[in-house]
Amino acid sequence: MTPGMRHPLIALALLLLTACAEKTHPPQVYKYTFFSMGTQIDLSLFDVDPARSEQIATAIERDFTALNTAWNPWGNGDLGQLNTALKKNQPATVNQALQELIENARILARDSDGLFNPGVGGLVTLWGFNEAATQMPSGPPPTQAALDVWLKRHDSLANLKIQNLTLSGHKPGLILDFGGYAKGYAVDKAIQHLTDLGVKNAIVNAGGDLRAIGSKGGRPWMIGIRDPRGPGMLAALPVRDGEAVFTSGDYERFYEYQGHRYHHIFDPRTGYPTQETASVTVVYNAGAKADASATALMVAGPQHWQSTAKRLGVRQIMLVATDGTVYITSALQTRIQFEKSPAKLIVGDVDAH
Ligand code: ADP
Ligand code: MG
Repeated sequence: MTPGMRHPLIALALLLLTACAEKTHPPQVYKYTFFSMGTQIDLSLFDVDPARSEQIATAIERDFTALNTAWNPWGNGDLGQLNTALKKNQPATVNQALQELIENARILARDSDGLFNPGVGGLVTLWGFNEAATQMPSGPPPTQAALDVWLKRHDSLANLKIQNLTLSGHKPGLILDFGGYAKGYAVDKAIQHLTDLGVKNAIVNAGGDLRAIGSKGGRPWMIGIRDPRGPGMLAALPVRDGEAVFTSGDYERFYEYQGHRYHHIFDPRTGYPTQETASVTVVYNAGAKADASATALMVAGPQHWQSTAKRLGVRQIMLVATDGTVYITSALQTRIQFEKSPAKLIVGDVDAH
């Protein structure tokens, strides 16, 4: 044996040690944060090579940046330009991506009996919550006369037709606003992109609204659901492969005027922000539908959430009423872990309605 050559047994021992070290070295969660769609986006990838993780994360950030521009109702992107054309009563055209966004929204609007209504752009503007406003509005609320003008328009996607990428059938001045589900749609696109890139375990969290794939080394991703009326979390939930968890609430964007809270989710039947619901969480295997459903169920409220959920086809729901009562379906109750016990808990199933 030459002096430079290791003894075969030592070499074997070294090899085993290395194999052992590789096995016991725990795979890492790679985290990446950026801002888009008015919120912080946290991307977590499990067991992906760090250099590759970086590339993947920047690709996902680019996707969000592009969609954020394209779908801003008030900017110069695709939707902003469409709204400008609608306002000026000029021929309104869309591209494939916008057509897809509109057609998917149309189904959700129909299935929610118009409680989810992306034709609310005019209302959002009347109440001052359009994103062009640099600050949170401070009131006063719009006059009833102004709201009546909007209500009489019956703005919705119902009569809108798209043929050869051209819109028709709508009233001039319709303002489209997909804020009630664009985040969910974008999160779905991100999950699809991650899957296409071969990522099997990840979570895309857009300010508490999220979708996960796979797990964290065999253990489910754990997430928190915010308490709408206090600091910290109301509950924790282990998320299953492919599931999305979306929450709508009256605490995200609101102002108080003469002792009343006015927030950014509107009942299209009254023109007013919804009154009786503080938050709704929907768990479903797609972000877009979970997001739109959470918005629709905010409008449906404690009296009607079950029948609306049934029509939408969502079954894992928690609704926190403004009086503190928590309504939950048994499908969600069996897996949620409350961190604060609700003042009153009512378990009610969607299929009963
Ligand atoms: P968040 O964006 O805070 O997560 P939502 O998903 O409920 O909450 O979206 C709220 C946004 O949806 C509003 O800012 C507005 O742009 C739009 N919106 C408000 N009311 C409705 C409604 N009834 N149907 C569809 N979109 C709505
Ligand atoms: Mg929503």
